[in-house]
Amino acid sequence: MNAEIIAVGTELLMGETVDTNSSYLADELAKIGVELQWATKVGDHPGRLEEAIERAWRRSDITITTGGLGPTSDDLTRESIAAVMGEEMEVQKDLLAHLTSQFESRGVKMPATNIKQATLIPSAEVIPNPMGTAPGWWVEKDGHAIAAMPGPPREITHMWDNQVGPRLRSLNPEIAIVTRTLKTFGITEGGLDEMLSPLFQSENPNLGIYSKQDGIHLRAIASASTETEAQALIEPMEREIRRVAGHAIWGEDDDTPVSAALDALSGRDLTLAVAEGFTGGLLSSTLLESSSASSILAGSIVITGGDSDRLILDTSLDNPDSPRPYDASNLALAVRDKIGADVGLAMTPLVSEETEDSGPVGTTHIAIASGGEVFVRSGHYPTRRLRIRARAVTHALLELAKCLETGAGGHESRWG
Ligand code: ATP
Repeated sequence: MNAEIIAVGTELLMGETVDTNSSYLADELAKIGVELQWATKVGDHPGRLEEAIERAWRRSDITITTGGLGPTSDDLTRESIAAVMGEEMEVQKDLLAHLTSQFESRGVKMPATNIKQATLIPSAEVIPNPMGTAPGWWVEKDGHAIAAMPGPPREITHMWDNQVGPRLRSLNPEIAIVTRTLKTFGITEGGLDEMLSPLFQSENPNLGIYSKQDGIHLRAIASASTETEAQALIEPMEREIRRVAGHAIWGEDDDTPVSAALDALSGRDLTLAVAEGFTGGLLSSTLLESSSASSILAGSIVITGGDSDRLILDTSLDNPDSPRPYDASNLALAVRDKIGADVGLAMTPLVSEETEDSGPVGTTHIAIASGGEVFVRSGHYPTRRLRIRARAVTHALLELAKCLETGAGGHESRWG
């Protein structure tokens, strides 16, 4: 089964919005064994949109559109699908009642323009959209199908997980797809490619390599007639990857650096205190994106330069000879004790070109005070400043998880 994506919206062509929906859908289609053959971006122009849909309908089994389902006159996806199908749009009473009640529950009167969001053509079924006001359309006839989905990414992901993904899987029942993603850090894409080169020749399972913010991901996809068979195809490949590159693997599938660090802490009933130099609070705010972090992160301190580290270290501002190491270990111990947490994590601001103590630009030191030990790591991230911070945060979270899991201390970081 093959597919085509049409991302609708003039803002996508103007460079104002990055078309992340197509990448998301491409990834999801691969996971269920549907071959994406075309991806098009088209503006809010009736003729061109109709042309794109008509061509997709002719040449592809499945067409997925995103965007253009809003209430305004430039939201034209429904009208264009209706024109290609040669059918009339009709208002559906139950859809209209549902839409009206959605507005009423927010204390707002529904504008008349929204009525078109309650329409269908005879060959379309509604795809519910509990995350927004624009329901999708599912059109299936003559061996082809169109799924018309809204534009906002969080609506797309919900609709895919609950509606469109399951429908497409049921159209392709003889194929079971199993995927396995292994996530690495501290090893280059080229290095991994070389180490695993024989595996990249395999067609089923197929192995892909992707560079991400949290390292290099290896994704194996196997297809077979049953899930058990697909799983059996993947297992030897996974074993071989772990044998060759296991030292660099920190997680799999949905694991994130945040989940790895928080799981390692919560699994041992530990709280964390953080002193952030260079990352300016990014580490703490990244952790706090997870709802479970608030009970684990006991506190954090942002060091912005100047003398703020002295306040944590309790060293005298008046005495120039008092210890003033840009020393992550001292900070990790001090922040842990000051905040009263079980584990202290500090990152020193070693990126200033002027600081004598600093390493090369893009170098940071990470210290983790846990139990009676302090583990120190260093990382060098040869990339742009904004990304250096994000990279350093990833590194610190993964080191934290690793230290707690293995108790590995005293070694220079294998990810440094
Ligand atoms: P709405 O009811 O919100 O108007 P819609 O289905 O009409 O939904 P659009 O108006 O096309 O969708 O887009 C709404 C918002 O969704 C855009 O402003 C943009 O932020 C986001 N969006 C749209 N298309 C994409 C895309 N392909 N990738 C990422 N984001 C997108």
